[in-house]
Amino acid sequence: MRRLPALLLALALAGPAFSADPASTEGVDVKKSRFLLLPKSTVENSSGQQYAQMMRSAAQKNALNNDRAQVERLRGIARNLIPPAARFNEDAKRWRWEVNLVSSRSVNAFCMPGGKIAFFTGIINALQLTDDEVAVIMGHEIAHALLEHGRARMSEQVLKNVGISVAAMVFNLGQVSTSVLSQAATLAVSLPFSRQHETDADLVGMELAARAGYDPRAAANVWRKMSKLGAQSGNAQPPQFLSTHPGHANRIKDIEANLPRVMPLYETARRERAALQR
Ligand SMILES: [Zn+2]
Repeated sequence: MRRLPALLLALALAGPAFSADPASTEGVDVKKSRFLLLPKSTVENSSGQQYAQMMRSAAQKNALNNDRAQVERLRGIARNLIPPAARFNEDAKRWRWEVNLVSSRSVNAFCMPGGKIAFFTGIINALQLTDDEVAVIMGHEIAHALLEHGRARMSEQVLKNVGISVAAMVFNLGQVSTSVLSQAATLAVSLPFSRQHETDADLVGMELAARAGYDPRAAANVWRKMSKLGAQSGNAQPPQFLSTHPGHANRIKDIEANLPRVMPLYETARRERAALQR
């Protein structure tokens, strides 16, 4: 990394940026990740393969989608969140989305690049999640994928841990081995996100939930429940979700400060839903 030439660094930092219309008071204002050395296709393919492998090994342990009602609930919520997702990343339209439920006490959920979502029964049961709460958590996870946080972290991992020459990375990615990429894909869902990524994912997740007709005020409640659970468990077995999504003192304050930007979207979605039901 120390020898990374300035030109290559500039290339790496020239990723696309997303920003809401600055004149608008509706919707959140966040930027897409900018450290994106690995191409999208590489990131999506290795993440897809890792996801498939995780689901296969869950199936072998009889831990995949055992509760049909709960699986249908999760997939129904995902179907509502996915249409507004394209506002933050056009690629969402072509992603082959998947939602699976793994039976495990682990308090965890994730969305890998390319729209590969997993929820663990532990997070649903331990937090007794309502639909609004599932929607803000799923929205938060989807946001990490839309804002390409996973892609940024995979890029970082490949550069940092593996010692491949930067030139080979940039000019001949065929030289990055499959095992290196799958390791990076796994690390990208097991390492903590940065504070900035967490804040951005909270805000985009709230907007997705609001546009899909779920109450974005549930976000603050989820984090209250989560930190209460973390405090109860002490150091024994803290929720996995808290280690990959570290909290910070201002998290709930940031969420609440952004409610005025998303509540009108929620009210509109609710009115539209009510009109359809009449
Ligand atoms: Zn997060």
